Amino acid sequence: MTATTDLTFATDDAAESAESAHKAPLPELSPARRDNLHRVAIAVFTGVPMLALVAAVPVAWIWGLLDWQAIVVGIACYGLSGLGIAMGFHRYFTHGSFKASRGFKIALAVAGSLALEGPILDWVSDHRRHHKYSDKEGDPHSPWRFGDNLGALVKGLAWAHMGWLFDGNISSHEKFSPDWLADRDIRIVHKLFPLLTAATLIAPAVIVGLATMSWQGALIGFFWASLVRVSFLHHVTWSINSICHTFGKREFDARDKSRNVAWLAVLSFGESWHNLHHADPTCARHGVFKGQIDIAARGIWLAEKLGWVRSVRWPDAARLAGKKVGETRALGGMTKQPACAPIGR
Ligand SMILES: [Zn+2]
Ligand SMILES: [Zn+2]
Repeated sequence: MTATTDLTFATDDAAESAESAHKAPLPELSPARRDNLHRVAIAVFTGVPMLALVAAVPVAWIWGLLDWQAIVVGIACYGLSGLGIAMGFHRYFTHGSFKASRGFKIALAVAGSLALEGPILDWVSDHRRHHKYSDKEGDPHSPWRFGDNLGALVKGLAWAHMGWLFDGNISSHEKFSPDWLADRDIRIVHKLFPLLTAATLIAPAVIVGLATMSWQGALIGFFWASLVRVSFLHHVTWSINSICHTFGKREFDARDKSRNVAWLAVLSFGESWHNLHHADPTCARHGVFKGQIDIAARGIWLAEKLGWVRSVRWPDAARLAGKKVGETRALGGMTKQPACAPIGR
């Protein structure tokens, strides 16, 4: 286990045993490169929803093509897929912040896939590579890639937000996700990504069409609850890579440029408390200070109460004590307090 990866994910041992079985270190990048057909698919599945997002205001206010059923279904789909990413792809599958029952594991994998942010093994492998090299050479999406003068940073922000999606390099599943590669359920969900892509785009249209009993309703549902919803969540997730590595507060000592960004907290389900996350990557709650809203952490808390998850790595006051920088604030609920340490210290 190297010093750079020791707290990133709870599965380094799995990576190491996979490597020792192969004798030589596994390459970090897949021998296959991202080809132009793959780039076109990414451009279509990010670009078309983005066009809808840009057109959303005129469609709603000028042509009045909006109904409440589409908004309700859109918000529900945003919540389902967004929590699938925050609780599932990120905190569980990438970082092992808790253990999950088989049923809940599959549910999280399916829900995260509905966000159209790529198949699960791609997402997890890219994100583990991001933590291993965060803001250094080898990070797939650092905004500091081109330097730190203004021009380089503008270019870097565009790269970290979207440009990296089209990079030829593909993070190796064998190197970064041997644990999930060995899991039959997850291999199946990974392979079903095209089907889940169709489902997340078509189902909202069908639901709103049936609710309004009209073809126009189905079309409005497709526009708002499929396209606009997918693109909105894309940009929120990508903002964690771009904005949360550039702007915001540095409240914890991390070895990269990660920041805590309060205004993105609700929309990202707590993922924008990204500075704490890099300081303590396996922690299940990212908004650890009192008042820092973290909806995904509350979801994990609820799942724990329902018996769907266990062994949750809740914030630990003693572990966080040496990582805080700047003003001292009280830690929020769910924090494990040592018997004799003052709260918030
Ligand atoms: Zn992470
Ligand atoms: Zn990051």
